[in-house]
Amino acid sequence: MSTLRFYAIKETLNRKPIKIEENERRSEIFGSNVFNEDTMRQYLTKEAFVSVMDAMQNGSKISRYVADHISTGMKEWAISKGATHYTHWFQPLTGTTAEKHDAFFEPIGNGRAIEKFGGGQLVQQEPDASSFPNGGIRNTFEARGYTAWDPTSPAFIYGTTLCIPTVFVAYTGEALDYKTPLLRALQAVDTAAVDVCKYFDKNVKKVNASLGWEQEYFLVDSALAASRPDIVLTGRTMLGHSPAKGQQLDDHYFGTIPTRAMQFMRDLETECMLLGIPVKTRHNEVAPNQFELAPVYDEANLAVDHNSLLMDLMHKVGERHHFKVLFHEKPYKGVNGSGKHNNWSLTTDTGVNLFGPGKTPMSNLQFLTFFINAIKAVNDHEEIIRAAIASASNDHRLGANEAPPAIVSVFIGEQLTNVLNELQNVTNGKLSPEEKTDLKLNVVGKIPEILLDNTDRNRTSPFAFTGNKFEFRAVGSKANCANPMTVLNTIMARQLIDFKAEVDALIEKESLKKDEAIFNVLREYIKHSQNILFEGNGYGEAWEKEAKRRGLSNNKTTPEALKAKISEKAIKLFEDLGVMNRVESEARYEIEMEDYVMRIQIEGRVIGDIARNHVVPVAVRYQNILIKNVKGLKEIYGDDFKKFGQEQLNLIEDISEHIASINSNVTLMINERKIANKIGEIDKKADAYCNKVKPFFDDIRYHCDKLELLVDDELWPLTKYRELLFTK
Ligand code: ADP
Ligand code: MG
Repeated sequence: MSTLRFYAIKETLNRKPIKIEENERRSEIFGSNVFNEDTMRQYLTKEAFVSVMDAMQNGSKISRYVADHISTGMKEWAISKGATHYTHWFQPLTGTTAEKHDAFFEPIGNGRAIEKFGGGQLVQQEPDASSFPNGGIRNTFEARGYTAWDPTSPAFIYGTTLCIPTVFVAYTGEALDYKTPLLRALQAVDTAAVDVCKYFDKNVKKVNASLGWEQEYFLVDSALAASRPDIVLTGRTMLGHSPAKGQQLDDHYFGTIPTRAMQFMRDLETECMLLGIPVKTRHNEVAPNQFELAPVYDEANLAVDHNSLLMDLMHKVGERHHFKVLFHEKPYKGVNGSGKHNNWSLTTDTGVNLFGPGKTPMSNLQFLTFFINAIKAVNDHEEIIRAAIASASNDHRLGANEAPPAIVSVFIGEQLTNVLNELQNVTNGKLSPEEKTDLKLNVVGKIPEILLDNTDRNRTSPFAFTGNKFEFRAVGSKANCANPMTVLNTIMARQLIDFKAEVDALIEKESLKKDEAIFNVLREYIKHSQNILFEGNGYGEAWEKEAKRRGLSNNKTTPEALKAKISEKAIKLFEDLGVMNRVESEARYEIEMEDYVMRIQIEGRVIGDIARNHVVPVAVRYQNILIKNVKGLKEIYGDDFKKFGQEQLNLIEDISEHIASINSNVTLMINERKIANKIGEIDKKADAYCNKVKPFFDDIRYHCDKLELLVDDELWPLTKYRELLFTK
């Protein structure tokens, strides 16, 4: 086995960076493989073009007749770009993307053939999708689900395939994917936000949620990755002693990007340009061989699609450069893990960012309205937010002494804290002209200049306001952003609806003026939401205690966290806003719990296998060498052998102890797995995997890692951390 390790290292050392030619300006190739507005103008009839644009902007329906025109135009364009196939591209609840390709080619008899792609094929397909997770929504004997075109996310060509973004739903109407609830949530927040915007500007007709994700990832040479069964099967290292040097020197962060990684990034960025993914920044992250890339933000549905597409692209481009891309939140113990910051804002069709302060007191009141409503939404639904980012792999970050904690809190900075404190003193009911003037001039009016120097950014906060957007930092690097985006926009919609009702009631019943009513409601919201506001260090034990006192949840594990998804409060929230019905919420809970169980189960098998079949045999082999050595010493020195062989004797014993501990722990773990596997109810099963099976991973690892330090390096079978992390 160690031969594989050394073979992989040799392969890696011989790698040369792949040469990347960039002959065209990025602005010229941007979006050239996307069926975007320009392309549609060129390939569609006027009627078809208007119809698609209307569907994109206003969600109107496209008739079957027009769909035929659109599909014909799309096909012509795709074929002109070298496409031979088309696919409905969707995001089932596996978390990855799915596609099933069909050729345009169709025989028409007499040995002749044509290229065909009708409106029906564009609009709807029925993939044989019986093996996608459905949480009991579809009985397998009635395994029917269909994909339906989402015209709000443009079709694109990848390789030689025309990809059509679609939703994936059961024949009974329930969502089987990530996109469907997201689209419903975006619709809900649009309607609710427009209603509130009308207090400030009657011309607003649409509010779009925006998302700017920042994707962190690790690169590891594909040969090195292949030499580690744990990376191959679980996406992370389950064993491995920390290297002498880790990230303590901070010499990787924002450092010079290594050449091979740089070529990979350039290649990837070119692919992104062709697909219209507006990637803009790239840099080294904190841990060795860890990187980040981020685009310019976009409308949330499109940005979610882009992120899913990007993750797929990264694997494919990585292969060309002999890299395996690790999206796991914690591929290596002892160095930073990866996250995916979700920068979120709301923008009107009149071009106003509702989380961005404005130039006039009135526009700042609008800003404060949305800002404070967002804080209250998070305050009232923190546990549901936590549930939206729960996964087996993200558990290694949240609640595991790593940024950010499992406790959801909101950071807004000192100056805005002061503004909110002042607003808490607003008079109950009608305001005097003096108070109004004072508020306008000294509180609301001061906001823009305040925010300019609001540079203090608390990196430990899971949910931070960063000047003109909220940055949700607890999202896992591996996650599909749709889930957290669905939750954020749903709770915001709920909150804005309630806000409007309260303000309207004050205007009608108490005959307050509009701005008086708004100030009155905001004042109560600020008082109500104090618990969620936290400016301090999110890692410390002190915060855990304080959060507990405040009654905030601190769900450290996925099984615990996910339970909030099926609380009556959550089910009602999603049901009331038309985002998910009870069946859909329960199905998702079921799917995610099952996913958790399966992942821990796989990890258990992997660590058991590696420990017993890779580590222990090598330790025994080394021990035999030592035994032979001691025997030899005895032969030469007789009873004096201990004088020269004491170290070896100690080692022999140490090795035996570690081997014994590994074996007993693996046996105990397997027994716990057997017990867990017999449990029928998914929540109890997940608890058993979490609390009975998983704890053995650390014990087994501890002894294996100790052996790594004892056993002859030449014999050691697993590629070591220093090799994985520092070979460029
Ligand atoms: P950081 O300092 O956390 O790296 P940046 O300011 O560089 O953050 O922005 C990170 C991401 O935030 C980018 O994807 C950017 O496009 C996005 N972003 C910027 N403004 C907004 C906004 N108003 N709404 C949503 N995302 C935004
Ligand atoms: Mg960020």
